[in-house]
Order: sequence, then structure tokens, then C-alpha cells
Amino acid sequence: MTDSSARIRLITFDLDDTLWPVGPVIIRAEHRMRDFLDTHAPEVNRRFDRDALNALREDILSKQPELLHDISGLRHRIVEATLEACGYADAPGLAAGAFAAFIDARHDIEYFEDALDTLEHLSRRYTLGALSNGNASVARLGLDRYFAFHLSAEGVGRRKPHPAMFERALQEAGVGSEAAVHVGDHAEDDIRGAHQVGMGTVWVNRSGTPWELDDLVPTWEICDLKQLAELF
Ligand SMILES: [Mg+2]
Repeated sequence: MTDSSARIRLITFDLDDTLWPVGPVIIRAEHRMRDFLDTHAPEVNRRFDRDALNALREDILSKQPELLHDISGLRHRIVEATLEACGYADAPGLAAGAFAAFIDARHDIEYFEDALDTLEHLSRRYTLGALSNGNASVARLGLDRYFAFHLSAEGVGRRKPHPAMFERALQEAGVGSEAAVHVGDHAEDDIRGAHQVGMGTVWVNRSGTPWELDDLVPTWEICDLKQLAELF
């Protein structure tokens, strides 16, 4: 343990692309949703290509901007709107089925090989929290055995890097920002977000990308999560 980590009590983690790679998961989940629609409401996939879906998304967000912080609600509303546009009588029921197909596949993840051992190790000595803009459920993944709490953008009503996410985490754990560190892959959402409330920051840079922000740097940079056990 280094001097700078000696007083750490809370470590918060980003989820997507920090504990598991998310790109392939979302692609597979979107395929599952399209498969569901092919079976139960085939007109939707015929009428709505990627451009049409993007236009619909923008239209919905212009009318319900609060959905920007609720990606599950937004995805659900988009598919419901496509079903309505195609004239399906049971649009709400079909939308629920299509969204369920998506969210089931959303939890079919493969952890980075260093993730679970690291959480297990750190959870014995620190309070761990999960802070995510995404819609993975910590409880559904069984990660609640490591995390004392999980805050989502949907629940807080603000997305990282908004300070509300990080301030809520400090409240949940009952610690000051000087006793807390956030771990994540995203320069803005994770590192700037945590930095602006005074938390320490660990940038998870698995691909060796150059740091991109001019006005701040992460407290620590690591290329795999095992290094956390050396830091803390
Ligand atoms: Mg991430």
C-alpha cells in the first residue's frame, strides 16, 4: 500500500469496458431483439433500418429529454414506437417482449479475466460501489456479493460525468472524497467525473491509448485490474 492509498475506504467501479468488454454484448443483444421482432412483428425490421431508428431516437429525445438518462426506458420507447408505427395492436406487449430479449442478452457477458478475482480481493478490505451509465444489473450478474451498492444513471437521473453520480456514491458509503477512488475506462465519464468531486482516479487503459485530456490527468493508470491489488 502506498501513502496516497493509505486512507482509501471506498473504491467505485465503472462496469462496461472496465469489468467486461461491452461492444460485442450490445451487438448480440440487438440481434436478439431483431430476431424477436422477425418472429412476432416482422414489419418493424422491414420498415426501420438503422437511419430510420436513429431519426426516431432523436425525435423521441426531443420530446422526452429525460430519457437521455434512462437508456432502458429510451430503448423500450423506441421499439414501442416502431410497433405503433407499423400498426401492431399489442404494441406495449410486443415492446416488452422485444426489450426482454435485449436485456437478457445484455447480461450474457464475459468478464475480463482479471475482473472477478480483483473484486473478490478488494471487497475484503474496502467498500466497493458500482457506478454505471449502462443498464446492466449488478444483482442479476451476482456482483452484489462484491458491491455494497450500485448506482445507475437511470436511478440517479444524471449520467456520469455529472457530479451527482459521484456525490451519491460518497453519501452511500459515508466517506469524504479524499477517502475514495473511482476506477474506469472513460476519460470524461469516469476520470473527469470523479476528479471534479475530489476523488482519486484510476484510468483502466487496456489498449495503451494515449491520454486525451489536456486539463487533468488520472491519479493512476493501469493496463489490467490486477494492478489494483498492488495500488490498494
Ligand atoms: Mg466504461
